[in-house]
Amino acid sequence: MSEQRPGAGPIDLQWLRNRFASLNRSRDGPELAPHKPLALLAALGNAQRGDRSIRFNELGHTLRRLIHSFGGAHWDSGNVRDPIWRLQTDGIWQVSDVHRIEMEASKRRPSVVSLRHVNPETYFTTEVVDAFRSHPEWIAVLARDLLDANFSPSLHAAIAHAAGIVLAPHRVSRTALARDAKFRNVVLDAYGSRCAICGYDDQLGGDPLALEAAHVQWHCAGGPSTLANGLCLCAIHHVAFDSGALCISTERVVVVSADVKSGARGSATLAGFSGRPLASPRHGDAVSQGFLEWHRKVRFREPAA
Ligand SMILES: [Zn+2]
Repeated sequence: MSEQRPGAGPIDLQWLRNRFASLNRSRDGPELAPHKPLALLAALGNAQRGDRSIRFNELGHTLRRLIHSFGGAHWDSGNVRDPIWRLQTDGIWQVSDVHRIEMEASKRRPSVVSLRHVNPETYFTTEVVDAFRSHPEWIAVLARDLLDANFSPSLHAAIAHAAGIVLAPHRVSRTALARDAKFRNVVLDAYGSRCAICGYDDQLGGDPLALEAAHVQWHCAGGPSTLANGLCLCAIHHVAFDSGALCISTERVVVVSADVKSGARGSATLAGFSGRPLASPRHGDAVSQGFLEWHRKVRFREPAA
């Protein structure tokens, strides 16, 4: 059930942020379920463009694309009915014409065929819409929260672009900044500022260029900022890893998803790194098997059989 707001009157931002955050808590353990946050991001993109509602089929089309590109191991699930329908139980979302939509025999979910046929309007509740009208900048804050809570930072810009959202500037606490800087220093130092997958190690003015410290199990999914959960990766392999285009096997070799298609020129393809051993750190902990397993299970795109 939705949490009651104390008293009537307009919604405040903190209440909305708490409301959205509680939607994300429907998880089992460290496994992130990307469908609901992606549905909300698609809906927020629509709201930011000034539209009060969006037809189910149109929202479903955007959501399917988002899941396909950013859903990780869930990329092949074409189920857009459940996340869009279930948002209603959270008290901020409505679907029109519910009396015309036929339910499945279980009565718990609508029939997909009927939902597509009726193609209802879907929209945020009136009080949320009113809040967005008065404070359009809140939409970008909520979108930023959803990304922070559910996706690796390396993917935020691409997801926002695909959802049609202009993001609010990132406000990072001093503590988080210090933690990230320490993690980056520890990981880059241990790997000699070389990509653990391709060995890239260019520098600009003596500083590592486009080399990043990647969390193997995402920080937003409870992964620690430690060397045992870190990899030094070039910017391309960081995005490829977080997107699930590749993973690391139990034997610590690179496995490339069969869903990766090389570009026409094929001069620097991901497929070329298939079967290569992952570099080990010069000192300190190698990546723990448990974190690599999280990544394989939650992010790696296993192609449909
Ligand atoms: Zn690389």
